[in-house]
Amino acid sequence: MFLDRIRIVLVDTTHPGNIGGAARAMKNMGLSQLCLVSPQGFPSAEATVRASGANAVLEEAVVCQSLDEAIAGYGLVIGTSARRRSIEWPALNPRECAHTLLEHAAHSPVALLFGQERAGLTNDAVDQCRYLVTIPTQDEFASLNLAAAVQIMAYEILLASTDAPAPVAESFPTGASTALAPQQNRQGFYAHLERVLVELDFLDPEHPRKLMRKLTRMFNRADLSTEEVNILRGILTQVQKQQTRQP
Ligand code: SAH
Repeated sequence: MFLDRIRIVLVDTTHPGNIGGAARAMKNMGLSQLCLVSPQGFPSAEATVRASGANAVLEEAVVCQSLDEAIAGYGLVIGTSARRRSIEWPALNPRECAHTLLEHAAHSPVALLFGQERAGLTNDAVDQCRYLVTIPTQDEFASLNLAAAVQIMAYEILLASTDAPAPVAESFPTGASTALAPQQNRQGFYAHLERVLVELDFLDPEHPRKLMRKLTRMFNRADLSTEEVNILRGILTQVQKQQTRQP
């Protein structure tokens, strides 16, 4: 059921013990694809001890220098967050998240992001996410240990993989031709859009007022396919040509 197409991405992890704990949690639940973005103190004996039997997941973990590198080629990217963000982001609960990941993994590899122990995911990382998932907790004490959060999400994914098909996030493209554009294509489009908006004096780089974040969120909601990204970029290129033609 596509469990091997779900990449668990730990971003900027500071405690190697949590990396080991996450690897063990994954192996318990049948997940194997671990990716570490700029981990501190890894590899380490502490991670290996905490992995306790899940060494293969650790040994095969892919280490990346940037989040872009970790999710290039990935269609659906979902982030986990203990707290609400200043800009509302489309939200899923852990169960919906698990079903949505599995449904989508049928068409392209998918990624689930976990943030740094102290600070969580940065806003830039959240911008890459189609949805954010929050594990329900007591309001006053919402932040789980990183490996515990991975455990809960991995458990939901295992349960969802053994279930009959269940509801997924609404309006998801399902055919191969409408699969989400890979992350680097979407990123390329956002960067292109930003350049054009600056050229048009619509976006003032000195006072960006979260415009790109809002536009990113809007286009993320549209679940753009590769063809749709290409159309939008074609329009931007045409706008640039017209701009340079003007006296
Ligand atoms: N103060 C940080 C907490 C980081 S905890 C924050 O507000 O996000 C480290 C990581 O564990 C988080 O980035 C997230 O990936 C995961 N995590 C912890 N508690 C969570 C929760 N209640 N729901 C979802 N993910 C959680």
